[in-house]
Amino acid sequence: MNKFVLFLAVLMLAGCSTAPNNLSVKNGYAIDTTHSSPNQNERVRYLVLHYTVFDDKDSLDALTNGTASAHYLVYSTPPTHHALPVALQLVPEAKRAWHAGVSQWGNRTHLNDTSIGIEIVNAGFIDGPTGRLWFPYTEAQLALVKQLAADVIKRYAIEPQNVIGHSDIAPLRKSDPGPLFPWQAFAEQGIGAWPDAAMVHKHLAGRPASRQVAVGTVQRALATYGYKIPQTGELDEETRQVIRAFQMHFRPAGISGIPDAETEAVALALVEKYYP
Ligand SMILES: [Zn+2]
Repeated sequence: MNKFVLFLAVLMLAGCSTAPNNLSVKNGYAIDTTHSSPNQNERVRYLVLHYTVFDDKDSLDALTNGTASAHYLVYSTPPTHHALPVALQLVPEAKRAWHAGVSQWGNRTHLNDTSIGIEIVNAGFIDGPTGRLWFPYTEAQLALVKQLAADVIKRYAIEPQNVIGHSDIAPLRKSDPGPLFPWQAFAEQGIGAWPDAAMVHKHLAGRPASRQVAVGTVQRALATYGYKIPQTGELDEETRQVIRAFQMHFRPAGISGIPDAETEAVALALVEKYYP
C-alpha cells in the first residue's frame, strides 16, 4: 500500500505524461487495468422491436417527454444524410431505455435491463367493419431497421431467438410489431430466428395445417422457446393470447390464437433448431 502511494506521488511529481497507459488516476485513487479477465460477456442479450402507434412527431414526443423511451426511433420515412437513412438515438446503448415494461423471455424478466429497444413509427391497427386492419411498414424504414438491427446483433452477439417483438415478451399487453412485420425476410438475412421448412413439414406429419390440436404440446414448446405461457393443457384466455403472439411472429397468415397443426409444427421446429 505504502509503496503504491509512493509510486503515485512519484508519478504526480513526474507529471501525468509518464503514467503508464494501464494506470489512470481518479479522484483520490487510481485504477490499474493491467489484468483483464476473459470471464465476461455483454450485458445486452436481447433486441426488442416495437411499433409506436403514433406518427413521427407524436412518437418522438412520447419517447422524449412521456414516461417511455427506446434506444432508437425509426421514422416512417427516415431522413437522410449523404444518401444514408438516419435513425434517431434517444438513449445511449450503455443505458437502460424504458421500452419493454413488465416482460419475460425464457427465465429472464424485466427485459429493459438486458436489451436494446428499437421503436418503429407505425400506426398499429384499426378495427373496422371487416375486421382488424394492420398498417404496413414502409420499405425505407424496414431497410433502415434491417441495417441497424444487424449492427446491434453483431456488436453484442445476440442469438437469433433473442431477437424478439414486444408482443413476444408481453403477450397479454402488447401486439407490436404486429403480423405485418417481415420477420421471415429479416431472418433470411441473418436477423432473428425462423424455422426450417423441412422441419416444419416433418412435424406437420401429413396433418392439415389448420386442424385444431390439443394445446398441451404447443404450451410446452412455446415455454421451451421462451414464451411465458401457462402449462394447463387447457386453451385458457392467457394461453390463447400467447399463441396469438407466437402466430403474429412466426405464422402471420392466421393469428386467431387457436392451436392448429401448423402452429404446433412451427413451434416444434423452432425448438428443434434453437434448443436441440
Ligand atoms: Zn412496444
